[in-house]
Amino acid sequence: MSDKTDAEPKIAIYPGSFDPITYGHIDILERAAALFDKVVIALAVNPRKVPPLFSLEERREMILEAISAMPNVEVADVEGLMVDFARQHGAIALIRGLRAISDFEYEFQMSLTNRKLAPRVITVFLMPHDNYTYLNSSIVREVASFGGDVSQFVPPGVARRLKEKFSPSG
Ligand code: ADP
Repeated sequence: MSDKTDAEPKIAIYPGSFDPITYGHIDILERAAALFDKVVIALAVNPRKVPPLFSLEERREMILEAISAMPNVEVADVEGLMVDFARQHGAIALIRGLRAISDFEYEFQMSLTNRKLAPRVITVFLMPHDNYTYLNSSIVREVASFGGDVSQFVPPGVARRLKEKFSPSG
């Protein structure tokens, strides 16, 4: 009994570029938020895929809108090693989304490397609803850049910002 009350909250981090956040990210977040006491989105300050379309502030704003109804999810900027961020936040797990086989090789390599660096942080792979297995931020940016309707891929606030980015009047 006392073990239970004294238990530390189980915290997970969910890293990514979120350029911009999509319904695929949100699907993974909802699953993670059901499994852990708290989920901290680790927003990459300098995404691997540079340059980002949206600034850090814009990406953070869109995330905050998307998580407004998720009380145990928050967002923080991350620069540097993910395992250091995980330690700073007292996280026991690192969440990654797995869509297709094509994600697997890179994710496998990264998760084993992170395990060497921080053996106590467990990488957890979650699969989205099959509606979202094809979806990523870059395909959304591409569709939006050609004026396509992205409303089935991203929340309304994100769709609006994409439209503004790509409309000639700015
Ligand atoms: P990164 O630069 O780390 O790939 P992303 O923002 O593209 O950043 O993705 C962050 C995480 O979200 C990754 O684990 C990625 O696999 C996952 N993810 C992105 N889109 C989807 C989706 N449609 N379904 C499931 N997971 C997704």
